[in-house]
Amino acid sequence: MTTDHGYPAVRMYIAGEWCQGGTGQTAPIVNPATEEVIGAVPLATADDLDRALEAAAEGFEVWRATSIAKRTAMLHAAADLISARAAEIGRVMTLEQGKPLAESTGEARRTADTLRWHADDARRAYGRIIPSAPGTVLTVRREPIGPVAAFVPWNFPVGGPNRKISAALSAGCSLVIKASEETPATAAALVRCYADAGLPAGVLNLVFGEPADVSAHLIASPVTRLVAFTGSVPVGKLLAAEAGRVMKPSLMELGGHAPVLVCADADPGQAARRAARAKFFNAGQVCTSPSRFLVHESLIEDFTAEFVKAAEAVVVGDGLEPGTTMGPLANERRLRAVERLTSDAVSRGATVRTGGRRLDRPGHFFAPTVLTDVPADAELMTEEPFGPLAPIVPFTDLDEALATANALPYGLAAYGFTRSAATAEKLSDGLEAGILSLNHCGGSVHEAPSGGVKDSGYGREGGPEALDAYLVTKRVSHLLT
Ligand code: NAD
Repeated sequence: MTTDHGYPAVRMYIAGEWCQGGTGQTAPIVNPATEEVIGAVPLATADDLDRALEAAAEGFEVWRATSIAKRTAMLHAAADLISARAAEIGRVMTLEQGKPLAESTGEARRTADTLRWHADDARRAYGRIIPSAPGTVLTVRREPIGPVAAFVPWNFPVGGPNRKISAALSAGCSLVIKASEETPATAAALVRCYADAGLPAGVLNLVFGEPADVSAHLIASPVTRLVAFTGSVPVGKLLAAEAGRVMKPSLMELGGHAPVLVCADADPGQAARRAARAKFFNAGQVCTSPSRFLVHESLIEDFTAEFVKAAEAVVVGDGLEPGTTMGPLANERRLRAVERLTSDAVSRGATVRTGGRRLDRPGHFFAPTVLTDVPADAELMTEEPFGPLAPIVPFTDLDEALATANALPYGLAAYGFTRSAATAEKLSDGLEAGILSLNHCGGSVHEAPSGGVKDSGYGREGGPEALDAYLVTKRVSHLLT
C-alpha cells in the first residue's frame, strides 16, 4: 500500500508479522525537500516491545541452531533481494531523507555487498585448539552473544540498519532494532528483504517509538545481551551508561569532528577538490564528514579558492530531480543547527566565502558553505556541524596543527594531504582517530573496520572485527576419561 506521494505505509515487524502497534499511535513522516507530511510511523507500546523481545529470544534459539550453510544461503538470498530492489529502496529513501537518488540507490547496492561480505566472513569465525596435557582437549570457541538491541539514526537509512543487522545475523544473533522514526520506510524495505528471503520469524524484529522509552525498555530486558548504537555522543553516553548498569556490553558508533590537515607540500587544488566532494556528500550529514580544514598558511588562498569553486558547483535540489548533487538537510533540527553555527561564527568574526544561508524555497535546503577567519572559540570549531559547513583555518607549524586536530574529545575520522612519506607517517602516528585517510577522503568499505576512539565510541563495524561484538569467546577444556 502506498500514499499519494508514492510512499509506502509503514509497519513494524514483530515475530514475523507486519503490525501497526498496540495503541495505533503514530508520528508524522516529513519529506525534507518539500516539508510535506508523506506518511505516519507507528509507535511501539511497552507490550509491543515485550512481544519483540520474546520473539527475539525464541528466534535466537532457532537461528543459532540453523546450520551455517543454511544461514549463509538465506543471507545471500536477502542480499540478492536488496540488489534487485535497490532502485525502489532508493526512491523511498530520497523521499524521507532527501539525499540525491544516485546516492540512495548507491547506498542500497553497497548495503547488499556488505551483507554478502559479513555472511561469508562468519563462515570463518574459527575457534582454536590449544596444546594441552595428554588426554585433555582444550578449545576456544566463538559463539553468538544472543539477542541484540540495536538503535540506528537517519543519515544512512539502509546502510546504517544493515551494518548492525548483517553483522548480528551473520554471527548467529537475533535482533530487535529500532530504526529512525524519520526514515522508517527504508528500514522496513530492508527488513522485508530479509523476511522474503525466508528468515525465520522472531530472528529480526523492527520497531519504532519514543527513542528514550524504547531504548530504556530494551536495554533493561534480561533478553538483551548486547546494545549496539549509532548516533550522537550524548545519546551514546546515555545508552552506554544504561547498558553498564545492567552489565551488558555495548557497541558505540558515535559522532566526530574530522580534521583535514593540508600540509605545506600538498597539491592545494587537488586536496580542495577531493575534500569538497566528501564534505558535501549527504549534505555533510556523515559521522566521518571532513569538518575542520587546517591548511598550511602558504596554501590557504589557493585551497580556499578551489574549495569555493567546488562548493559553488554543487547542484542543490530535491533528490528526485535529475542533476541534483546535494539534497536538503534531513530534518528541521539540522537546518536550525547549521544556521546557528554559521551565525555564531560570523558574529565572532568569520567571513562567509560562499553560501552561509538557507535557500529561499520550501524544504530544509542550506547552501554549501565555506567560512574563513573562523576563530577557535566559534561553536563550529568544537561542535560537530553535521551539515554542509566548511571552516578553513591556517596553520604554520605541523606539530601545532596536530595538537589542534587532537584537542577535541572526538576521535572518529581524520584526513591528511601531503606528498612526503615522512609527513604521512607523522600524521599516521600523531592523529587520534579510528579512521585515517591520506591524500583522499575515503568512505567506509566492508572489508576494513570503522569506529572511533575517545568520545567517538568503541567497537568496530566492517572488516573481520565487525563480528567481534556479536560473538563471545568460550574456553572448553575436555578431559577424555
Ligand atoms: P539525536 O542525538 O537526537 O539523535 C541521534 C539518533 O539517536 C537519532 O536516530 C535518534 O532517534 C536516536 N536517539 C535519540 N535519543 C535516543 C535514546 N534515548 N535512545 C535511543 N535512540 C535515541 O540527534 P539528531 O538531531 O537526530 O542528530 C544530530 C546529531 O546526531 C549529529 O550532530 C550527530 O552528532 C549525531 N549523529 C551521528 C550519527 C553517526 O553516524 N554517528 C548519525 C546521525 C546523527
